[in-house]
Amino acid sequence: MNSFRDRFQAFLELEASLELRRLGDDPDLFTHLMEADDRWFLDPAMSTFDPSSVAMLTADELAQHKTMLQPRRLFKGILHPHEAYGELASFYTSTLYEHTRYKMRFDTAMCDDQLVIVARYERCPKCLGLGSVDGQPCDFQDLTEGRCDATGWLSSPRGPDQRRLPPATCVERYEAPRERTSLALHEADSG
Ligand SMILES: [Zn+2]
Repeated sequence: MNSFRDRFQAFLELEASLELRRLGDDPDLFTHLMEADDRWFLDPAMSTFDPSSVAMLTADELAQHKTMLQPRRLFKGILHPHEAYGELASFYTSTLYEHTRYKMRFDTAMCDDQLVIVARYERCPKCLGLGSVDGQPCDFQDLTEGRCDATGWLSSPRGPDQRRLPPATCVERYEAPRERTSLALHEADSG
């Protein structure tokens, strides 16, 4: 699990540094993003790197973004056996700008001795990752955001849907989130 974690942490730091380049309107941004997409994402459609311009932001908003930007917090990692990859490590993180709660899940695998992100998911806005609301399986669905299907997580567009995995072989908790529902997710031994 350590080799997965160290490499994933390197991805989180790269992601934040590229976001900082974006906020700084770096003229070489696109080249850097393309290289990072090719290196880290099995499918560019799953990329978290944002190539859009920040020209619409006011100077104050830009300054605020720069102040809040930090690498995503890494809360938890879960290792699963996987028939295609051998092992698959799921990492749960915050966003780049809000650091108190679970927001994203990244599924990672080793391909040719490199860590690659093979899928990513966003926390369901209805059940907040719990998979149920008032004791009923969550039925959230949205044309662009995806479906919850009572898993608590929305699959990224075109990414493989492997939200239901075999039981974990290892669960590691790192930093604890502060938000209450996130803490419940943090303490669970599954996703
Ligand atoms: Zn849900």
